[in-house]
Amino acid sequence: MSETQLAGQPPRVKIFGRSGSSAAYTVRDFLQRSDVPFDWIALSTDDQAREQAGVADLKDPRLPVCIFPDGSRLESPTFRQITEKLGWFHDPSRSEYDLAIYGAGPAGLSAAVYAASEGLKAVLIERSAIGGQAGTSSKIENYLGFPSGISGAELAERARDQACRFGAEILIAREGVRGEFFPGKGVGYLADGTKIVARSTICATGIQYGRLNLPNEDQFLGSGLYYGAGLSEASSCGDEHVFVVGGGNSAGQAAMHFSRFAKRVTIVIRGPSLKCTLSRYLVDRISAAPNVEVVANAEVTAIDGDGVLQQILLTNRQTGQQQTFATHWLFICIGGAPQTEWAAKVNIVRDEAGYLVTGPDLLTDGRPPGNWPIDRNPYYMETNIPGMFAAGDVRHGSVKRCASAVGEGAMAVTFVHRYLAEV
Ligand SMILES: Cc1cc2nc3c(=O)[nH]c(=O)nc-3n(C[C@H](O)[C@H](O)[C@H](O)COP(=O)(O)OP(=O)(O)OC[C@H]3O[C@@H](n4cnc5c(N)ncnc54)[C@H](O)[C@@H]3O)c2cc1C
Repeated sequence: MSETQLAGQPPRVKIFGRSGSSAAYTVRDFLQRSDVPFDWIALSTDDQAREQAGVADLKDPRLPVCIFPDGSRLESPTFRQITEKLGWFHDPSRSEYDLAIYGAGPAGLSAAVYAASEGLKAVLIERSAIGGQAGTSSKIENYLGFPSGISGAELAERARDQACRFGAEILIAREGVRGEFFPGKGVGYLADGTKIVARSTICATGIQYGRLNLPNEDQFLGSGLYYGAGLSEASSCGDEHVFVVGGGNSAGQAAMHFSRFAKRVTIVIRGPSLKCTLSRYLVDRISAAPNVEVVANAEVTAIDGDGVLQQILLTNRQTGQQQTFATHWLFICIGGAPQTEWAAKVNIVRDEAGYLVTGPDLLTDGRPPGNWPIDRNPYYMETNIPGMFAAGDVRHGSVKRCASAVGEGAMAVTFVHRYLAEV
């Protein structure tokens, strides 16, 4: 048994990196969301870097270093190198699929499970880790069948396993960047140059977190400022003051998770009360937590630090009153936006915010848009390109919930079958 492999526990990856390193955070976040157990060893002196990570000093570009359970070592690894190491990186096995699904959040995973289980040759393409937003959730408590809740990463890993068992092909660490659509065929171009040809397509690419839009925001990304619930960071926040920005369920959930580790958790919201935006069960828990407080009518207007975040400025939106707080932990959980610029280039109809418009929402006075080429109206969840569907958070009018995304993924496959039967 290896040093890190305790009886009954899965082997763990060791990550050595400079304390406050953005690159090391990216690796931790990826492994956390992929449900791969790891130990984080934060290095704070050159001696530690030499002795523990085998590099010259803390500034060595080979950091972070990952040591895998088989003893192999990756220096400053990319997602692709990590997925290769875990045996998850594959090339497409077919020259043409029945269905290509972009995005492996709950909607895409569900579409993959149903498509493959119903005999379609399906490929699922994900640019980052499996699980999407849900994969960053510490505990999803409103998902059917899990009365005590389930971590998003575990739910995603189970879905990945299920999709693979049914024969879906999953390409991780690959990003769809462009599409071309012809009658009966879609061609997706991935960032690495790979071409995916499929008779039908589901876009399930979800949304991307919103930003604070402060001029120096990028400087602290992964070094004190994080987008999302920062699950991989919670256990490092011990005895510190953590700030969570946002009033939605993801922010509430993150705050409750941090409250188990941090001395104090402050939720910063623009509105007057959490009650307007948060599920009741979370409002009750936050009210009962002794170390969680809510600062209402406020926003973060400045952040500062020396390499690592050291302080933030909160401004009251009504009075203009300002207060500075010392902190190394700022988690941004504010509503995001879809990334669908590629769709505009091929004249797929989007709403003002960029969400893909589908089915009945495309009709004006009962008629499809002018460029709709065939003699039927678009199916529910079908965009204005026949055979090109949208499911989950990326779809105009979708409910931003895990179960809804899963439902939409399954339902989109039903319409894919109808479409494939007619071409
Ligand atoms: C912290 C947090 C907690 C939450 N908790 C709950 C909860 O308790 N209950 C609940 O019902 N909902 C919860 N939600 C909301 C829920 O997770 C989302 O509604 C759901 O994940 C949406 O699923 P999706 O598949 O549509 O999109 P996403 O989950 O956003 O997944 C989209 C995927 O597409 C990938 N992608 C994007 N662009 C590309 C591209 N070009 N090529 C390839 N891949 C791409 C992304 O990397 C991502 O993995 C939570 C959300 C967050 C952030």
